[in-house]
Amino acid sequence: MYQVNENYLKLPGSYLFSTIGKKVAAYSAEHPEKTIIRLGIGDVTQPLAPAIIEAMHKAVDEMGHAETFHGYAPDLGYEFLRNAIAKNDYQDRGADIQPDEIFVSDGAKCDSGNIQEIFSLDNKIAVCDPVYPVYVDTNVMAGRTGTYDPKTERWSDVIYMPCTADNGFAPELPKETPDLIYLCFPNNPTGSTITKDQLQVWVDYANKVGAVIIYDAAYEAYISEENVPHTIYECEGAKTCAIELKSFSKNAGFTGVRLGYTVIPKELKCGDVSLHALWARRHGTKYNGAPYIVQRAGEAVYSEAGKAQLKEQVGYYMNNAKTILTGLKDAGYTVSGGVNAPYIWLKTPDKMNSWEFFDYLLENAGVVGTPGSGFGPSGEGYFRLTAFGSYENTVKALERIKAL
Ligand code: PLP
Repeated sequence: MYQVNENYLKLPGSYLFSTIGKKVAAYSAEHPEKTIIRLGIGDVTQPLAPAIIEAMHKAVDEMGHAETFHGYAPDLGYEFLRNAIAKNDYQDRGADIQPDEIFVSDGAKCDSGNIQEIFSLDNKIAVCDPVYPVYVDTNVMAGRTGTYDPKTERWSDVIYMPCTADNGFAPELPKETPDLIYLCFPNNPTGSTITKDQLQVWVDYANKVGAVIIYDAAYEAYISEENVPHTIYECEGAKTCAIELKSFSKNAGFTGVRLGYTVIPKELKCGDVSLHALWARRHGTKYNGAPYIVQRAGEAVYSEAGKAQLKEQVGYYMNNAKTILTGLKDAGYTVSGGVNAPYIWLKTPDKMNSWEFFDYLLENAGVVGTPGSGFGPSGEGYFRLTAFGSYENTVKALERIKAL
């Protein structure tokens, strides 16, 4: 008789957003007259920018003619896209990343889940708490996390770095030395960021102890403050200790189009072994490339028209963030985030835990958010609202919350 991968059986409960979906569906069925405003899930709502649509139409037409048809894409991605990424996201910012250090993929979720494959099962991971659940769950599936304690909601072999109001939602260097350190800034779910100096401390630490930082910069486009790094490679020494993950989902609305990339510098080595070579081998074996049409759409993100249109789109969401931030403050809530990230992290009112506040807000305001405890034990007592709704719905949601 065959056996399943028992690591999968260790995963606790159902996925956070399916639990939320079920609760909202049940409430809607009971109260069909109520309109519900969803500020829970991190999906975008604005349509693709015209420059991107134009590039996609052109690429679709190319696919209809033998002379311009494209089959399998090159392993690492098309050169036109990797060149545009290297120039705009790195070299223009003073970070020396070359096009052949970039691996184009269909998004940061897959990459953030798959990257652990090139590391030994003996490696110990460190994660922020609260955290984007993919980092932990994919290490559980791989068998790297030990046993789960439902009481503490923690895995025995994971190093947790609490991010709370006390430390400004920025992790501190862990007491126990990790091998792999997952960092995400601007952060999901807390909406917090760290400065370049703070990130430099992590880079120096990783180089000193021989750890790799897996740096998720999916929300980089939302940075509005000066001293916040746009890439970890702005820090000195990052090329010998850091892998960076990027997504086109939040800066360009590609959540349904699917495009992302991973940067692995050639200098990043474990002894003599190049991590770039390992990931290239993995990518070439298990992945057949993002579609040509989508990579052309990605290229348009970096065109002059694309850049201008997307700046406006990000501005639209950040105006929502401001509306939520000021509205919640006016209503007396303690809030953070929302300045360099599309997420607002609010403290639930006294005596209400995250899920109690979820129910309270759904039942009394018809507003859906995400309970902080769903992102880890240190998220208990917090709640996440996203700026990805329409402006009209965001204003309406805040009016309802203020009226409570
Ligand atoms: N990384 C973080 C921190 C995210 O919050 C998300 C999506 O919400 C992703 C990665 C996934 O990005 P993608 O749509 O490129 O898979």
